Amino acid sequence: MNNQKDNHPRRIAVLGSTGSMGTQALEVIAQHPDVLQLEVIAANSSADLLIEQAKKYQPNIVVVVREDAYRKVKEALADEDVKVFCGEESLCDVCEMDCVDMVLSCIVGIAGLRPAYRTVACGTPLAIANKETLVVAGELIMRTAKEHNAPVLPVDSEHSAIFQCLAGEHYNPVEKLIITASGGAFRGYTKEQLETVTLKDALKHPNWTMGPKVTIDSASLMNKGLEVIEAKWLFDMPLEKIDVLVHPQSVIHSMVQFEDGSVKAQLGVPDMRLPIQYALSYPLRLPLPYERLDFAKYSTLTFEKPDREVFPCLDMAYKASAAGGGIPCVMNAANEAAVRMFMEEKITFTDIPRILERALSTAPSVKISTIDDYIALDNETKQKITCMGA
Ligand code: MG
Repeated sequence: MNNQKDNHPRRIAVLGSTGSMGTQALEVIAQHPDVLQLEVIAANSSADLLIEQAKKYQPNIVVVVREDAYRKVKEALADEDVKVFCGEESLCDVCEMDCVDMVLSCIVGIAGLRPAYRTVACGTPLAIANKETLVVAGELIMRTAKEHNAPVLPVDSEHSAIFQCLAGEHYNPVEKLIITASGGAFRGYTKEQLETVTLKDALKHPNWTMGPKVTIDSASLMNKGLEVIEAKWLFDMPLEKIDVLVHPQSVIHSMVQFEDGSVKAQLGVPDMRLPIQYALSYPLRLPLPYERLDFAKYSTLTFEKPDREVFPCLDMAYKASAAGGGIPCVMNAANEAAVRMFMEEKITFTDIPRILERALSTAPSVKISTIDDYIALDNETKQKITCMGA
């Protein structure tokens, strides 16, 4: 990475520090004080955890988006040597500060879009765990990043795996990316069985510890759909060259097939701290003293095709991405709204693809060119869905 002017540790801003990915990122950064330094932590509204993180990890700046939470955090940190800022604009401003060498965005949903854009637009490297940003505005984000020489580093485990497989293969054409999927909580279910699943069932991910939104997206396979679109932009790969393969053990995190038929895979225990750390320290690998992959524990690694009929969200994502323009934005907004309604137990699990289908078939055809256009379309879609209900 080119922007480390002096020989100081890489100074990181962690956006969304109180979520599942954010908390793991702080743990990783704290383990490597010679190489990584926590400069900024930011969260939407989780005041108590943010206060605890500020005291424990001693960043220089804390950002709280919501005003009520800000007052609480500001008061609690009055005696600490830390600046506390409030609001969405501050969240974007910190991404542009000279004291930040890299932004790690662990924000969930479209809320990550504007800070990600502002980061790459000022040429700062962006480690991105927030997949919705690339799903909605991948073209704009990647084009802007290229114009300003800002590397975009994957954090999602599948994309980190592909990124690791591509290391040293710069001039070698890729035939296919194979994104692996655990299959989620309902792998093997029939359509009828899916009709009666509950929120609690959907929140039980077989292998990974993640936040509720991504766990529900995993259960519907929408997560894999979002990841296909994310891969398309991150690796500049046409959709036809991106495959999804169910691999229930989650040991192979994804694969790359080259022109000569050779396939490279990246393997490891399912632990998000590894891909987080690889993005933060790239191109270095740093020690990570956690569990190692014990091959003897796995007598078999299995693979199967995803069930595209029982889990229609996967193909919806391919279609939305192929349609382009504002359509992936509409799909993502509809999914965020539907998942929220499911988490509030207002709709059933199988209502999620129904809502998506309806949103996509009635999507307005609008010209999209700026971040504001995307955010407006996102708002409009969510409002429409919340008003209509299931
Ligand atoms: Mg993933």
